[in-house]
Amino acid sequence: MRYGILGDVHSNLSALRAVLECLERDVVDVVLSVGDIVGYGAAPEECIGVLRELEVAAVKGNHDAACVGEIDASYFNPMARAAVDWTRGRLGRADLEWLRALPMVLHFSDCSVAHGTLSSPEKYEYIQSVEDADPSLDAMHTPVCFVGHTHVPVAMLRMTSDPSRTAYTLEPQLDLDELSRALVNVGSVGQPRDEDPRAAYGLYDSDLAKVWVRRVEYDIAAEAHRIRKAGLPGMLADRLFFGV
Ligand code: ZN
Repeated sequence: MRYGILGDVHSNLSALRAVLECLERDVVDVVLSVGDIVGYGAAPEECIGVLRELEVAAVKGNHDAACVGEIDASYFNPMARAAVDWTRGRLGRADLEWLRALPMVLHFSDCSVAHGTLSSPEKYEYIQSVEDADPSLDAMHTPVCFVGHTHVPVAMLRMTSDPSRTAYTLEPQLDLDELSRALVNVGSVGQPRDEDPRAAYGLYDSDLAKVWVRRVEYDIAAEAHRIRKAGLPGMLADRLFFGV
């Protein structure tokens, strides 16, 4: 089975289209989303429309939850809050219901999906160290789990040779045969923050037991223009050029 995994899309239609073109060439059977489909960007209806059309299996991110009023957006930074308020006003009832109905985690026979952590997904905590990753690695029942939330691609690992120790790698290709389990952050489609402005996505071939995090260029200027035209904070457009 081949899975395509969409990192945080954040209403960036140009980046989403570029990634989906790659996944079409990669010939995937299933497309997954680690959540944060909306927020920050200016094409929420369009991005939700594409994901619904493709029947993407998605979990709920904190921006998705804020847009449907399930979590308090007052702790978001002012730019993120402005985008949540703007997005809420743009979405129709059916799209809001679709967001509200998204699960917190997804389990398949050979992978799992969550937004922040697998161990307590409703808390939307960030995995930024091997210690942060341990509870989620302990909670896994599949060889690999995909997450997003930090917008920075990284894999937290336990090797078959020493499953008691957690390590990490920034390598864009993982061989699961050598690992007892892997928690893979696939980066962000629509708002990368690792100083590489290209859209990021994951590819998983469960028969080959391999995972890749790939990058693709997209029309950043078009998406930045859409954000400015919508009246959203200009910084949300500017940051796309730098991948921060
Ligand atoms: Zn996000």
